[in-house]
Amino acid sequence: MIIVMNKDARHEDIENVLMLVQKLGLEFSILNNEEKTIILTQQSYDLNSDLIKALPKVEYVVTLNEDYKLVYKNINNLETKIKVGDCLIGGKEITFIAGPCSIESKEQLFKIANHLKNSGVKIIRAGAFKFRTSPYSFQGLGYKGLELLRELKEETGLYVISEILDHHDLPYFEKVVDILQIGARNMHNINLLKAVGESHLPVLLKRSYSATLKEFLFSAEYILMGGNKNVILCERGIRTFSDYTRNTLDISIVPAIKQRSHLPVIVDPSHATGKRDLVIPVSLAAIAAGADGLMVEVHHQPDLAYSDSEQAIRLEQFDELIRRSRKIAEAIGRKF
Ligand code: PEP
Ligand code: MN
Repeated sequence: MIIVMNKDARHEDIENVLMLVQKLGLEFSILNNEEKTIILTQQSYDLNSDLIKALPKVEYVVTLNEDYKLVYKNINNLETKIKVGDCLIGGKEITFIAGPCSIESKEQLFKIANHLKNSGVKIIRAGAFKFRTSPYSFQGLGYKGLELLRELKEETGLYVISEILDHHDLPYFEKVVDILQIGARNMHNINLLKAVGESHLPVLLKRSYSATLKEFLFSAEYILMGGNKNVILCERGIRTFSDYTRNTLDISIVPAIKQRSHLPVIVDPSHATGKRDLVIPVSLAAIAAGADGLMVEVHHQPDLAYSDSEQAIRLEQFDELIRRSRKIAEAIGRKF
C-alpha cells in the first residue's frame, strides 16, 4: 500500500497515520518525494485502506490489488520520467507536443514546425499514415511523409512523434521518429502493442474512445511486458451522448491514472473537442487537473487542412495557449 500525504501535512498528521499503520500490524517505510511524504507498507493488499484514507491530510492511498502489475505505482517506481532528447516527459515539467494532424507537403510541415520551434516546442506531431474512418478521406503521405519527418529533424533538430498503424512498418519508424504513437483505434490491437513493446522508442498510447480506465491500463501493460517501460498515456476524449463536441474529454481520468500509475499522462484537447475554439480552455483545464503535457493539432491554414480542419488551432492561437498555460502551470507549481 502507498499512502501519499498532502503537502500541507504536519508532523502530527504523519504520526497519526503511522500509529494506525502500526496498530494494523503493517510494516512500513517512509519516503520523501519532493515536497510530499509517502508511507509505504509491505503488504500489497489491504482491506484497511479506507480507515487510512479517512485520516486528516491523507491525499490518497494506493492498494496494489489490481491485475496490472507493471503500470501500477510501486515502491521503486512512483513517477516515470521519459527522456526524449533533452526533453523530459513527466515529473515537474509540462510538455507541449504540437503540429498538424497530417503531413500534407514539405512546405506545410516546415512552416508549422518552424513556427512552433520559435514558440518553444521541441516535439512535433504529424501523421504520415492516417487511420481514417472513411476510405475516401486523405490517408496520409505514408513513407513519403516519414521521409519529410526525417528531413525536418535533420534541418531543425526538432523531435518527432508519428502514428504507426502496422507493426511491419516498425523498422521504418525506428529510423525516423522519436516517439511512436498508437492511435485510439489501435489501443486494442494487441499485436501492435506487443511489437512496440519490443522497441527502444518511447510510445504514446492514446485511449480508445470506448475504453475504461482498466482497459486503457491493460493496453499499456502489454507494452511494458515487452520490456519497453517508456509509455506515455494520452486521454483524447471518449464517446458519450453529448454531440456538441466531437468527443467528451474525461478530465477525471488524468488524476485517476496519476493516483494509480507511475506513467506520465498527457491530454489531446483537439480530438477531445473537435472544435478549435474550445482547445485553449480545455487545455488549461487539463493542466490544472495534473496532466504532464498536451498534444495539440496546429495548422497555418486550418480551413485548408486535409484532415481534422475544424479542430486545428491557428499559429497565433497556439502562442496564446502557451502564454495562458504558463500561468496555470505556475499556479500549481509546475513549469515548462
Ligand atoms: C491523431 O492524433 O491524429 C489521431 C488520429 O488521433 P486518435 O487516434 O486519438 O483519433
Ligand atoms: Mn487528427
